[in-house]
Amino acid sequence: MRDFRIGHGYDVHALAPGLPLKLGGVEIPSAKGCVAHSDGDAVLHALCDALLGAVALGDIGKHFPDNSAEFKGIDSMLLLERTVELIHGKGFSVVNADMTVVLQEPKIAPYIGAMRSRIAHTLKVDEERVSLKATTSERLGFTGRGEGVEAHAVALLVIDNE
Ligand code: MG
Repeated sequence: MRDFRIGHGYDVHALAPGLPLKLGGVEIPSAKGCVAHSDGDAVLHALCDALLGAVALGDIGKHFPDNSAEFKGIDSMLLLERTVELIHGKGFSVVNADMTVVLQEPKIAPYIGAMRSRIAHTLKVDEERVSLKATTSERLGFTGRGEGVEAHAVALLVIDNE
């Protein structure tokens, strides 16, 4: 039997006026953006955690500490790139990944194609293996009040050469 591994990731960032909003590696025009040490890309952070979780390598905070000057304002796509190197180093490749973003506004549907394409490129897989959905929380809770953005991710990995 082939050695498959599944991982799950979850991330939240607070939103504040006048900051850039970057999700899935794409900058989205928005009145509010993420408060964060890095660029605050909750989608990519959740995905990194799903990949790391699949191979039990800890979490994004362990590999890229948010008190380190090295990661201040960093493009999270670079964090994803390094995470992919880590899982390749363990002998695994990505089978597929699925993500959900919870955000009241703006609507991110127009940007989903660009996000999938950027993520697939970094994961080194075809775009059809990367899924990204968006939902609101019907104005309920912190996402519904526009106070934050939430992202969920699952990823399936398989060991190479088996
Ligand atoms: Mg984060």
